[in-house]
Amino acid sequence: MLSFNENLQGKVAVVTGGGGVLCGEMARELAQHGVKVAVLSRKQENAQGVVDEITAQGGKAIAVACDVLSKESIEEADRQIREHYDGYDILINGAGGNHPDAATSEEHFHSESLDNDGIKTFFDLTEEGLKHVFHLNYIGTVLSTQVFMKSMLHRESPVVINISSMSAPSPMTKVLSYSSAKAGIDNFTQWLAVHMAKENVRCNAIAPGFFLTSQNRNMLLDENGAYTDRSNKIIGQTPMERLGNAEDLLGTLVWLSDHKMSGFVTGVTVPVDGGFMAYSGV
Ligand code: NAD
Repeated sequence: MLSFNENLQGKVAVVTGGGGVLCGEMARELAQHGVKVAVLSRKQENAQGVVDEITAQGGKAIAVACDVLSKESIEEADRQIREHYDGYDILINGAGGNHPDAATSEEHFHSESLDNDGIKTFFDLTEEGLKHVFHLNYIGTVLSTQVFMKSMLHRESPVVINISSMSAPSPMTKVLSYSSAKAGIDNFTQWLAVHMAKENVRCNAIAPGFFLTSQNRNMLLDENGAYTDRSNKIIGQTPMERLGNAEDLLGTLVWLSDHKMSGFVTGVTVPVDGGFMAYSGV
C-alpha cells in the first residue's frame, strides 16, 4: 500500500472489471485510503472475492454483478449500488479483454496461408468476434460512463479513469479489434474531458504496458509457465526489462483520483509501461 491519502477518505468508487487482476488491485488500494468501493464483475463471485479481502482489512466494499455489454445490466448494477451510496466520486472503467475470434494467429500475412486451415488470417476474422471485443473494450466503457456518471454530477470533484493500453498509440500485432477499441478509449477520454469540463468532471486514462493477468496468460506464458516468444519480444522492447506488477499502477491511480493532486489534469492517458512507448527499438 502507498502512504495513506486522507484526501480520498469517504469517497465512493465504482470499479468495473473489479474482479480481475489489475482492477481488483486498484479496488483494494482505494479501499486502503478509506474509499468505499463498489466492485463490479460480470460474475458476482469474482467481485465478492475482492470485497471479502477488502472487508477483512477493515475496508468498506460491496460486490455487484455487472455485464458492461448490456446497458440493462449496468443500470441494474447502478440501482443496486445506490441502495448503499448516494453517488460516486470515482469511476474506473476497467472491464476489458481480448478474444481469439478477433485476432489473427500470425503477426504478418502471407498469401499462401489462405490455403492453410490452421492459420487464422485477417480474412477469417468474424464480424461477431470483431464486434464482441470492440464492444467489450469501447462500447462497454461508454455505456458504463453514461449510466454511472449521472450519479457523479452532484459530487464535488468527480473523476473518470479509463483503462487504455499500449495497443492504443500503436497497435499490437494480431489483436485487431482490441487495438482499435483501446485507441477509441484514448479518443473517448479526450472527448469526454472536453465535454464534461464545465461540470468539473475530469476524465483521464491509464495505459498499462504488459502485465501478466487472466486475459493474456495464454499469450505470455506457455504450458510450462515459461515466457513465450511474444513475452520475450515485449520484454526486449521494454527498457526496464520486465513485465509490470499490478502495484505499479497504484501511484498513478491515486494521483488521478485525488483532486488535490491532479485537479487540473484532464484528457490525458498516462503510460505505465517501463518505457515501452518511448522506445523505438534501436
Ligand atoms: P483480467 O482478465 O484479470 O480482468 C478483466 C476483467 O474484465 C475480468 O474481471 C473480467 O471478468 C471482466 N470482464 C470481461 N468481460 C466483461 C463484461 N462483459 N462485463 C463486465 N466485466 C467483464 O485482465 P486485466 O489485465 O486485469 O484487465 C483489466 C483492464 O486492463 C482491461 O481493460 C485490459 O484491457 C486492460 N489492460 C491490461 C493489460 C495487461 O497487460 N494485463 C495491459 C493494458 C491494458
